Amino acid sequence: MQKKDFLLKRYQWLLIGFLVLIVCLSTASFHFIKNQEQTKTNKTKKAAASSYTTLKDKAAQSGSVEQLVNKTYHLSRDYVPGDLVTLNVQSVRPVQLRKEAAAALTQMFGAAAKEGITLVANSGYRSYEDQEKIFAQHVQTMGEAKANAISSKAGESEHQLGLAVDLTCAEMSGDLQQSFENTAEGKWIAAHAQDYGYIIRFPKGAEAQTGYEYEPWHVRYVGVSLAQKIKKSGLCYEAYLKKHGADRVQ
Ligand SMILES: [Zn+2]
Repeated sequence: MQKKDFLLKRYQWLLIGFLVLIVCLSTASFHFIKNQEQTKTNKTKKAAASSYTTLKDKAAQSGSVEQLVNKTYHLSRDYVPGDLVTLNVQSVRPVQLRKEAAAALTQMFGAAAKEGITLVANSGYRSYEDQEKIFAQHVQTMGEAKANAISSKAGESEHQLGLAVDLTCAEMSGDLQQSFENTAEGKWIAAHAQDYGYIIRFPKGAEAQTGYEYEPWHVRYVGVSLAQKIKKSGLCYEAYLKKHGADRVQ
């Protein structure tokens, strides 16, 4: 009887020990699974963060349509866009732009024509060397300070991006002057360019930020969505980037 009691107690202890072991093991495995899930969530979050692209990232990315080029952010001598096409629109000279910008410009010229507005392209893509020559000519005729306010040194021009185009019309005799803003064509561009992905890149009143005098004729392709946002903001691209650089873009 006593032996039986003793054995029973022994088994009881064994049973208790076994139960404690089970509880410990399940607690440990619960924590292990929880940690695994946490790691997985963190990994997913990290992946989402890396696919997150801001406007500032895009503006710094070579070859993006948002790429910022100005007197601070330059292009190298050998930068040539890989997808230049020659425009099939009325122009002063043969004009080339990147494919996407060219298609948008052709569409814009067509839409304007339907409203009796005849836009003329004056100049599009310019190589580093072209820009070097133009700037040197300006320096000769007006001195470096003035040349720098109305034109770009090589590597500082958006024309080298193949995303900028100078526009004119018959009334301007193909010329580029601020009075373009008073022509029917200039007014049409100021009102509609953003709907085709273009912005007036050097607006009136933004001289301190852009580094250029007002150029109602110089339009820059950035894509429709961004162009419309910039137009709505009333800011130049530099100021818009300062304010919305952290905005998410696709
Ligand atoms: Zn220009």
